[in-house]
Amino acid sequence: QEMRNPADARDLVGRVAWASDGDVNAALDAARVWDAPAAERAEVLRRVADLYEAHYGELFALCAREAGKMVGDSVAELREAADFLRYYAAHAPDAAPVGRFACISPWNFPLAIFTGQVAAALAAGNAVLAKPAEQSPLIAHRAVRLFHEAGVPRAALQLLPGAGEVGAALTADPRVDGVAFTGGTDTARRIRAAMADNLAPGAPLIAETGGLNAMIVDSTALPEQAVQAIVESAFQSAGQRCSALRMLYVQQDIADNLLEMLYGAMEELGIGDPWLLSTDVGPVIDEASAKKITDHCEKYEKRGELLKKLSIPEKGNFVSPAVLRVTGIQDLKEEIFGPVLHVATFDAKEIDQVVDDINAKGYGLTFGVHSRVDHRVDRIASRIKVGNTYVNRNQIGAIVGSQPFGGEGLSGTGPKAGGPQYVRRFMK
Ligand code: NAD
Repeated sequence: QEMRNPADARDLVGRVAWASDGDVNAALDAARVWDAPAAERAEVLRRVADLYEAHYGELFALCAREAGKMVGDSVAELREAADFLRYYAAHAPDAAPVGRFACISPWNFPLAIFTGQVAAALAAGNAVLAKPAEQSPLIAHRAVRLFHEAGVPRAALQLLPGAGEVGAALTADPRVDGVAFTGGTDTARRIRAAMADNLAPGAPLIAETGGLNAMIVDSTALPEQAVQAIVESAFQSAGQRCSALRMLYVQQDIADNLLEMLYGAMEELGIGDPWLLSTDVGPVIDEASAKKITDHCEKYEKRGELLKKLSIPEKGNFVSPAVLRVTGIQDLKEEIFGPVLHVATFDAKEIDQVVDDINAKGYGLTFGVHSRVDHRVDRIASRIKVGNTYVNRNQIGAIVGSQPFGGEGLSGTGPKAGGPQYVRRFMK
């Protein structure tokens, strides 16, 4: 397969051969748990973090060219990856590992999430079969070579690049003892079914999945702060974050002014080549994704419910950051993984109903609230059912160790990534 830059298809980033069924089989036969003492495993993982940092330029370039990540996001990506390595190293247990762990990751955090899963599984001494997303195998390959260079045995960490079939083969093979997965909710359901049919009863599944993330802005919010948080939450990383804001509720009384400010702030966004420091919004990952997002927006545009749309470069997988009008979160049928914000207004006395509507969707990843009334914030935060709540700030981002990340309901199962319970799920 040829891997091409999502911002510019003329840029051939590299080539990759997908793992065949035979490769998956051979890898499972060759897999051996890493039986070094915990202190030694931890030392090696810390060395991987050092190597990541030493190779920052190369990793930034791969993030930008293969995954369309802008420079600021690439810095954060490497930071988080190194944090995962050091944090899980610090939690490396002297206890038996689960055994052979399949780690299946998405493309939107091609280094950080890939590394987090693998590092936790290795910290606990498992044999890891790592299956990166089909859109970002080159970054994963570079990462795995650095793991090996640091001293992780090759039989304890093997890379199996490929599409969903490779993940499906792994999760349906009884030689696999546990699965760490991050990606879409539907894929997680398929994995759960395959595991139930083929793996030993009780095999752990750690699933971090999608969301329909909402934010409530009430009439006491500081508009400048709310607008900045909305722009970052909805449009940074071209909206391709699991945590990204999809559904904004603005109190009716302030809606006209707030939305006018929002459209003005959107006009300031630089859209283009992620490698340029002037870029705020890069491309989306591939043509299929661009088409799905564009089709969604066109449906709203035809109905006269497109409130704002920005213009974009002609070439590359760019989609227009857009704001669409809805009556509420009940109108959203699925996660649209791009720079698209849905907006509804609410009357002050309906605020409990708004929270109920958000909860009723069954997802539970991130949620944001902007208000200067403490008791209202407390009431909303205590009633909303999500993994991570953000107050008077943007609702993207997490910090390993101090702000662990993970959802509930349809958004995930298992302990939060970057939290104190995570490595335990990789122990017997
Ligand atoms: P995806 O579900 O399409 O793919 C994720 C991984 O699963 C890929 O490696 C893919 O090849 C593999 N896969 C596909 N079909 C499979 C199967 N049948 N069996 C086993 N593996 C299979 O998701 P994506 O498009 O790569 O990522 C975007 C999604 O990830 C979004 O829904 C986003 O919300 C979610 N996400 C969640 C978090 C979180 O922490 N909750 C973080 C990042 C992304």
